[in-house]
Amino acid sequence: MDYQLTDNQREFQKDLAGFLQERIAPRAGGFEDCPRGEINDRMRENLKILSSRNFLGTGINDDSLDLVMIYLAGEEISRACASTFLSARSSAFMCGGALALFGSPEQKKKHLGRLLSADEIGAIAYTEEDAGSDISSITTSARRDGQDWLVNGDKNIVVNAPIADVFLVLALTDPDGGIEKGMSLFLVEKDSPGLTVGASVETMGMRGVPMASVEFKNCRASELMGEKPGKGYQQLKTLMTMGCISITSLCVGIGTACMEISTQHARQRRAFGRQIGKFQDIGFKLSDMFTYNDLGRMLGLRAAWAINTHEDDAGVSAACAKLFAGEAVTSIVNWGMQIFAGHGYIRGSDIERLYRDARFAGICEGTSEIQRALISTHELDRFKQV
Ligand SMILES: Cc1cc2nc3c(=O)[nH]c(=O)nc-3n(C[C@H](O)[C@H](O)[C@H](O)COP(=O)(O)OP(=O)(O)OC[C@H]3O[C@@H](n4cnc5c(N)ncnc54)[C@H](O)[C@@H]3O)c2cc1C
Repeated sequence: MDYQLTDNQREFQKDLAGFLQERIAPRAGGFEDCPRGEINDRMRENLKILSSRNFLGTGINDDSLDLVMIYLAGEEISRACASTFLSARSSAFMCGGALALFGSPEQKKKHLGRLLSADEIGAIAYTEEDAGSDISSITTSARRDGQDWLVNGDKNIVVNAPIADVFLVLALTDPDGGIEKGMSLFLVEKDSPGLTVGASVETMGMRGVPMASVEFKNCRASELMGEKPGKGYQQLKTLMTMGCISITSLCVGIGTACMEISTQHARQRRAFGRQIGKFQDIGFKLSDMFTYNDLGRMLGLRAAWAINTHEDDAGVSAACAKLFAGEAVTSIVNWGMQIFAGHGYIRGSDIERLYRDARFAGICEGTSEIQRALISTHELDRFKQV
């Protein structure tokens, strides 16, 4: 068993980290009190900065994804700015990744290079007002109209919607086909007649992420993902399994950023004539933070490697990683807040931003409850002979 990254991977990580700490990290706090329009412009710029060194497309090849590289890039980008990672991920990983895995040669030629260079920004839209964890209850539909499809329905909480050029949309194409055969993914361009982006959605954390609802009214879509309709649920499931790796990297990146500032504070802040880090209670918090974060990283990389090598139970490893890291990071930022105490609780402090950003991890890409349900189903199945 070899736990080491290759020399190339280590070199890449170092190069990326240096670039991000210089170019992206100083911009992270600036999103907080910006007007929405400015946030959108700043995020477009951040995606361009990432693409200027080809980091936006890390791990995304023409017809495959390298999840270890995607993990490594995700951890460093999130350490610098979690919002930037969430936006980059929707565009490059979710839309670009879908194109790499399921797109036709024409679709790849038209969109993939542009998404990875941030000349085009992508968004993925599956959640609806009455359908979140339960994807089977979406009502957005698409029906044939000549060579095209007409899409009708509403999606909400769509990352990048206000700045997106192209939307990857989940719709019912055969209401009798059930979840496995009745859904399809479409690429819909923002200028398609019938597509309207709603007002921006305001969130507790991840304040730098442009987010809005999207409405489709007889919206003409010509770009089905894949050769035949009916594959949408399987495609989304594949993306979300892989997405668990990138959300794990998000958690560990936030955890690392939190540990860095908390450790610095524990060294600088003095009470009762000593560095507060010398009090055992504070030291124990730092050690628990380190342990939780390192475990999250190990699980994330283990699952990434399992997906890359097509291990049978890779999906369960990915769910375990996302479940653990998503809950661990909320403990990590909580300990961080306790170390900063009153000064951390003041609006505008870095720990306060990380605290709010971290809470998102247990909600997205399959909530913690949904991950537990998946893992327990696997376990019950595994021991059914006993
Ligand atoms: C910041 C942010 C960004 C997002 N970005 C996007 C995006 O770009 N595109 C997009 O389409 N969506 C996006 N979403 C939506 C996200 O995917 C959903 O919030 C998520 O799937 C959960 O759905 P829900 O919020 O409707 O919760 P619900 O499904 O209503 O769940 C409510 C509660 O019930 C629990 N629950 C539900 N079913 C079960 C079950 N079977 N067993 C046990 N417990 C269960 C859940 O775990 C949760 O605790 C985003 C959300 C956030 C917060």
